[in-house]
Amino acid sequence: MDENSPSPLKPRTLLAQALGAGDATTRALTPPVHMSSTYLRDADNGYESGYVYGRTDNATVKQVELIIATLEGAADAMLFSSGMAAATSVFLALEKPTHIIASHVIYWGFREWLTDVGRYGGHSVSFVDTTDLDAVAEAVRPGETGIFWIETPSNPLWTLTDIAAIAEIAHAAGALLCVDSTVSTPIITRPIAFGADIVVHSATKYLNGHSDVIAGAVAVAEDSPLWQSTQKVRGQLGGIAGPFEAWLLMRGMRTLDVRLREQSRSAMKLAERLSAHRAVSAVLYPGLKSHRDHDIAVRQMDGMFGGMFSIRMRGGEAAAILVASKVEVWKRATSFGGVESLIEHRASIEGEGTPCPSDLLRLSTGLEDVDDLLDDLLRALDQVPRSAETRTASVVETEVQS
Ligand code: PLP
Repeated sequence: MDENSPSPLKPRTLLAQALGAGDATTRALTPPVHMSSTYLRDADNGYESGYVYGRTDNATVKQVELIIATLEGAADAMLFSSGMAAATSVFLALEKPTHIIASHVIYWGFREWLTDVGRYGGHSVSFVDTTDLDAVAEAVRPGETGIFWIETPSNPLWTLTDIAAIAEIAHAAGALLCVDSTVSTPIITRPIAFGADIVVHSATKYLNGHSDVIAGAVAVAEDSPLWQSTQKVRGQLGGIAGPFEAWLLMRGMRTLDVRLREQSRSAMKLAERLSAHRAVSAVLYPGLKSHRDHDIAVRQMDGMFGGMFSIRMRGGEAAAILVASKVEVWKRATSFGGVESLIEHRASIEGEGTPCPSDLLRLSTGLEDVDDLLDDLLRALDQVPRSAETRTASVVETEVQS
């Protein structure tokens, strides 16, 4: 395939065949894992193969990068040893002190890192509700703001930020827009098509999909000095994904489209059914018509809304923790995007200062039979004592808006 022209094939086809990755020598349909940490130098002292050393070059990694770049409609992509390595490398590559505008509701580990970003080259950060475009415009510091960082849908409240609108504000300020698109994946949203400059993934989640790889990816709309520096940072820090992880990721990605469709279908059914339960005060899922950002979701998400949703309990934190303790099919664990359904009381993990309410349970819909998932949740929810329903729906609604 010509790497520079968009493929006429659908993502599902490209993924199922891993973009034709195989082995030219043996004609193996499934590609080998290139484990070598070093490569032979030519007699004339050159490296005609282009491969020199494993901290910067690996053929298995490159195969995955090509797949991700193709899916995202990106000029290039780079694979990292984790989502955090991917995200932080972009900021470590900034060459002068930069003002960053970031969504207030983002993956808590990255919010924590950004809070300390001043340590890494004198950058500063303003956390803003990026669903409020006026607030975003007001936060711009002309001549200083260089990067916008948004995560949409936002983990774990699943609010939507309008990528095209933020891209306009960012570009008018001469800044770049980075989107953490881990939850949507390129099957649901391709941020570059909405004007984003950089897309970041925790490939640990949906891209891999089997809870057995830690990896990250960055894709860019076009080559730039920042992209070149990010490559340099990866090479210097050794942030590249391991070859075996890259290979497993490629295998996982073959079913990404099928998984996402099924997970979205199940999540929608669960969100609808749980909305009616007496113990639940709110279901946060962009696919619900009642979701405050549903119109943006319809524009930005490609006919499905993903596998992630949260429920808020009328009985507060105690009721949330009780429900998490009573489920059997759903597994109590952090992370998301795998084939097993996971449930988590997020506030416990995010700690002080989190925008996540203490009555919230985050759910990652897996690939189990949706009726088993529903029955399990209903059984657990039915065990919440009626006396725990002390808070009214309107109180909870006010909190969600704030
Ligand atoms: N982005 C999002 C949305 C996440 O949820 C996570 C981890 O949970 C990360 C990035 C970081 O990814 P990793 O755990 O692969 O470093």
